[in-house]
Amino acid sequence: MQLHITQHNWPIDGIFRISRGSRTQAQVIQVELSDGSSIGRGECVPYARYNETLASVSATIEGLRPQIVRGLSRGQLAQLLPAGAARNAVDCALWDLECKQAHQTIWQRLSITPHALTTAYTLSLDTPEQMQQKAQAHHHRPLFKLKLAGDGDLERVKAVRQAVPNAQIIIDANEGWNSVLYQQLVPELVNLNVAMIEQPFPAGDDALLQDLPHPIALCADESCHDRQDLVKLKGCYEMINIKIDKTGGLTEALALKQAAEAEGFAIMVGCMVGTSLAMAPAFVVAQNAKIVDLDGPLLLAQDQPHGFEYDQASQMQVPSSKLWG
Ligand SMILES: [Mg+2]
Repeated sequence: MQLHITQHNWPIDGIFRISRGSRTQAQVIQVELSDGSSIGRGECVPYARYNETLASVSATIEGLRPQIVRGLSRGQLAQLLPAGAARNAVDCALWDLECKQAHQTIWQRLSITPHALTTAYTLSLDTPEQMQQKAQAHHHRPLFKLKLAGDGDLERVKAVRQAVPNAQIIIDANEGWNSVLYQQLVPELVNLNVAMIEQPFPAGDDALLQDLPHPIALCADESCHDRQDLVKLKGCYEMINIKIDKTGGLTEALALKQAAEAEGFAIMVGCMVGTSLAMAPAFVVAQNAKIVDLDGPLLLAQDQPHGFEYDQASQMQVPSSKLWG
């Protein structure tokens, strides 16, 4: 087996801003596995919040080179690397390679009939006026996800709600709130018909959510990486946000989805800002999910060849296996 690890900078169309900071480029690592006749590819996005850098993730994958070139199963991979971006890129490349070797699509291999999905459209953290303008420019989209931060959040949601009175709105505080702010904001957000709140508090403060009212569904993101996290999320959240960069690939993402549903959690499937190559495996997990948030490529100025097509109503068609799977 041959292994190629490459780094790519994909320019973002404008600026992507959340409570923790902003970026103008999606910096990703691409893994390519070749057996001489078939090629499998995977992409990951190293994430500083989880102590990952381009260098550390590349080095982690490079450290596994001897095992990978000898031929590594996804099960063995899960024993050797923890959940995270490095395992994600390799796991997704192994799935893609398996499909190509078997001359099957991912849908055939998993016995799933795929459907087009409607994704959320993300509005970066900004002034209420700027977020309102952006929502107005995309008023035809049915579902908006607002990046929030704490101060000024009510004004942001009000401004967007005015621009898109009939759209579904979900919000993501990215750990930027505390319980005082939560209790102030939530009744107002009920009136503004907000459908879901993602990760209001820092991951370590989840237990505070047990004693607070939940008139709006709460979704764990930074607090939920893989199946091990589920037990501590019960009673704190109604939903979990599954991302393949957190689970360490499609294999654990599918297992997490099944385990979470069995525990009564509703499913959201999200992404880091990456290309369609990273969305394609997530699109598999996102089938039948309650909320799909796979708009990474929509935020980029360029995308991979054979990338997802998004229509004006944010619908994503089932991708070509030339992209992945
Ligand atoms: Mg989030």
